[in-house]
Amino acid sequence: MQEIKRTDVIFQFGPNNPPIATVRPGETVSVETDDCFRSQIRSEKDLVTQIDFSEVNPATGPIAVKGAEPGDVLVVDIRRIELGSTGFMVAIPGEGAFGERLQESVTRVIPVKDGRFWFGDELSFPVHPMIGVIGVSPGDREVPCGEIGDHGGNLDAKVIRPGARVYFHVRQEGAMFALGDAHAGMGDGESLICGVEIPARVELTLDLIKHPSIVPPRPVVDVDGLFVTIGLGPTLDEAASCALNDMMDLIHWKTGRALDEISMLISAVGDLKVCQIVDPQKTARVEMPKSVLPEPSLPVLP
Ligand code: CA
Ligand code: CA
Repeated sequence: MQEIKRTDVIFQFGPNNPPIATVRPGETVSVETDDCFRSQIRSEKDLVTQIDFSEVNPATGPIAVKGAEPGDVLVVDIRRIELGSTGFMVAIPGEGAFGERLQESVTRVIPVKDGRFWFGDELSFPVHPMIGVIGVSPGDREVPCGEIGDHGGNLDAKVIRPGARVYFHVRQEGAMFALGDAHAGMGDGESLICGVEIPARVELTLDLIKHPSIVPPRPVVDVDGLFVTIGLGPTLDEAASCALNDMMDLIHWKTGRALDEISMLISAVGDLKVCQIVDPQKTARVEMPKSVLPEPSLPVLP
């Protein structure tokens, strides 16, 4: 298995990043990811106000997939996320949902052991490994890894976890896939502005669906019997509307059902959830039982 180190990272998804590795469709690779601070925070003495922000939100890559062309779909199976032993969280005055109630910049070391992350010796929670930043090249422009677009990016969707299959619309030859910003845990909303930020080693398989007739414009996740659309927008309302309408389109393409019936189905069994509210573009998702689609349930049309 190819092992891709965290030494080669990008800070923006874009058309001009040379690939650091090339894989064949169907190949499984191991990718190291740095934490979102690029390891600039190592103890509680290191404050986020002192770090170089041009080095924040690295994504390891890009990884080129042989034969990927614009209009194809990249299929990413997240097989395993092995977390580092130490996570970090930072509180920043004026950032996130708590604003000026936070008086000073504070760093907290969050050890990870025995499958749990720890606030001190007594309060701990089961880890929930997930990938915050994941995507392909947007093709025609550069988007910083801390931002979000139809190509993916800083989605901060908890459903991108081990066992998830994520579909991306390829917009550049090779797809140019990259990922970073693993979390040992994160609440929906990411209300403070961070999860439990941690380096990781991710095992994933990259594959292609060639020349589908209809491709969802934004990432779609298949996990635990659910299809999940992830919407974005400058407000949470707009992100929610984006995710809901992506789900409506997906069901319509796959089943041909009437839009009024689909709207009832989504309203009856689709869960609208917040991904994050702390970036300039918000992200929301809709989780829908896969049983609404016929078998085999691919979110694209062949
Ligand atoms: Ca993030
Ligand atoms: Ca993060």
